[in-house]
Amino acid sequence: MPITAEQQAEIDELRANAKPTLRAVAEGMENHLYKAHDVLDHGFIRVIDYMGDDAAICQAARVSYGKGTKSVQNDEGLIRYLMRHWHSTPFEMCEIKLHVKLPVFVARQWIRHRTANVNEYSARYSILDREFYIPEPDKLAAQSVINNQGRGEALTGEEAARVLEYLKGDAARCYDHYAEMIDQEGQQGLARELARMNLPANIYTQWYWKVDLHNLFHFLRLRADAHAQYEIRVYADAICNVVADWVPAAYSAFEDYRMGGANLSGKAIDCVRRVLKGEKVTQETSGMSKGEWREFESILNG
Ligand SMILES: Cc1cc2nc3c(=O)[nH]c(=O)nc-3n(C[C@H](O)[C@H](O)[C@H](O)COP(=O)(O)OP(=O)(O)OC[C@H]3O[C@@H](n4cnc5c(N)ncnc54)[C@H](O)[C@@H]3O)c2cc1C
Repeated sequence: MPITAEQQAEIDELRANAKPTLRAVAEGMENHLYKAHDVLDHGFIRVIDYMGDDAAICQAARVSYGKGTKSVQNDEGLIRYLMRHWHSTPFEMCEIKLHVKLPVFVARQWIRHRTANVNEYSARYSILDREFYIPEPDKLAAQSVINNQGRGEALTGEEAARVLEYLKGDAARCYDHYAEMIDQEGQQGLARELARMNLPANIYTQWYWKVDLHNLFHFLRLRADAHAQYEIRVYADAICNVVADWVPAAYSAFEDYRMGGANLSGKAIDCVRRVLKGEKVTQETSGMSKGEWREFESILNG
């Protein structure tokens, strides 16, 4: 279960105690504060705190004394301009702090994003909960035959049942031994910092993760992308929903330029120009490698 009744009561109490503030408040984000959004079977993301809103991006860009914003249209135009021209520092003026519960193998991918501040649950000090990520049957996929870094069709029949049984059984057995090793009833009890090495990578961990909007967009572009592993992508998707409510203009520009847009090399732009002039361009005459050409075609053909 992602959130216990006791934890929910804590969240409800926090949400019931609103305090007036002079700081910028994003209405869309206030609705998300503290609430947990379920991800995978036991995970979640929840917003602990945030700083800034769309207007804060414009204020920073204009280095203003007061509101620094003009008409909504004008502000949106400025935000789109900043995004289009990689003028990134105004986006760094907004920050978000998330509480994330995620499987350890997802955390390993996530932690590669170095431009955030992290504080993780200590498995030296505390005992990890008996919670493991077990994929839904349709996510229990075979190795992709075309992409070494991906998955293909879902496993079926006896193989699917056996794999599920292994995942559940191995996790349960490892946790039983973990619990037995640290137990101090009638024995010394192995140190928690050592016993945890017996736990599988699908056990859940938790952390607080704070990042500015520019670096969050970088994370989301990589991890909400179709090439990212499903298990991290669902976290990125959940964060995308929150960010869309927090900074709607910035998120819309991000969706358009980063998620929906594409980078073209000089050779690719040359090909586009030649095609527009009526020339038939092929991979052989493009100057691009087969891989580059395949990706170029997929950008053009959607
Ligand atoms: C689909 C996919 C597959 C991947 N496969 C692999 C893999 O097989 N093996 C593997 O090891 N990793 C893999 N990664 C991880 C990837 O290589 C990056 O480590 C990860 O995406 C973090 O990106 P980043 O460094 O740009 O992010 P951040 O660490 O958030 O950094 C953001 C930006 O800040 C700058 N920056 C941050 N720190 C430094 C620094 N110390 N020096 C210079 N510039 C810095 C860089 O410009 C960087 O792009 C994969 C990632 C994805 C999305």
